[in-house]
Amino acid sequence: MTFLLAVLTALLLLPASGRATAPDETAAGNLSPASLPVRGLAIEAPKPAGLDAFLHFIEDDLAPAGFNLLILRVDWNYAYECHPELRDPDPLSRNDVKRIVALCRRSGIRLVPQINLLGHQSWATQTHALLRAYPQFDETPSVKTENYTSWPNADGLYCKSYCPLHPEVHDVVFPLVDELCDAFEADAFHAGMDEVFYIGMDECPRCHGRDKAELFAGEVTCIHDHLAEKGRQLMIWGDRLLDGRTTGLGEWEASYNDTWRAVDLIPKDVFICDWHYERADLTGIYFATKGFPVAECGYRNPAVCRQQIRDMVRFRQQTTPETAALLQGYIHTIWSGADSFLRRYNAMKAGQDPTDSGRRPYDADRDDVRALMEVMAAFTERDTD
Ligand SMILES: [Zn+2]
Repeated sequence: MTFLLAVLTALLLLPASGRATAPDETAAGNLSPASLPVRGLAIEAPKPAGLDAFLHFIEDDLAPAGFNLLILRVDWNYAYECHPELRDPDPLSRNDVKRIVALCRRSGIRLVPQINLLGHQSWATQTHALLRAYPQFDETPSVKTENYTSWPNADGLYCKSYCPLHPEVHDVVFPLVDELCDAFEADAFHAGMDEVFYIGMDECPRCHGRDKAELFAGEVTCIHDHLAEKGRQLMIWGDRLLDGRTTGLGEWEASYNDTWRAVDLIPKDVFICDWHYERADLTGIYFATKGFPVAECGYRNPAVCRQQIRDMVRFRQQTTPETAALLQGYIHTIWSGADSFLRRYNAMKAGQDPTDSGRRPYDADRDDVRALMEVMAAFTERDTD
């Protein structure tokens, strides 16, 4: 009887006609962040040595705070069977991943793995695994990462890209995507695709002279269609789809290299992660009115993160049910290594100094820890206003 009651209750709570939310969740008066369909965290996957601490973090912190989405940047930190040459040293094993999968399932958290595709194939002087093993995929082979000094530089080098028109690149990349999604038992995959500065470059014999928006859209669509064959959704960062010159948004946060017109060229079920770290920009509405499911994404400014959550709740309340259903929620981002972040997070939680002498340059002392704690508090509050 109890079971039957539970089933009936669950059926009654199911959204109508496949929409992400029931209409009454966006009704006036419901200003609770807990009503957001997506309450997420995007963070680097731990190394095997940090896995236990990471599992504790999911179980003891994320789940109780109501997170229901975890995007893990795995990249080359997995023991790929299809391309072992692309494994980082000491990668996560399949069994390691299965421990994360089991815990997230138990905790009601949707798990989405990420590999940076197209852009972010290098960082500063380091070229990452794909272009190390397959230098023929490099969009700008004349640019040498070992010569990188700082930004700006004569090469315009921020991160390298692979050439989306190389005839063999997807033969390498898609088996990796499939193997990772299978291991994570995932119904969605995050392909990154942010901050692509090198695209349609003059030196590339395939891309030279082509429309950059069409090149970007072509790659998004190609990945989308591959995932769709197995019923999986594509998630990407939104910056390449925003017009930097018109909006005044920065060169990283929006596109100054003409990719932004791709917003009208890609499938409408691509999930857009709309990141803004310095201000709570209102571009989530732009994506939703274009027809995309979208989440706002914040990072290390607690007040901005709080505002983004508040805005998303209010947008959902103030728009039509059709638009509200696309305004999916908020995904917090952490950009330091998962292990170093958790050391600082746990220290601060215990009332200790979170300074980590081993931190990498992008770690932002205490601000990123404070911001996550602010988001956790917001998610567990009943009202934001
Ligand atoms: Zn090319």
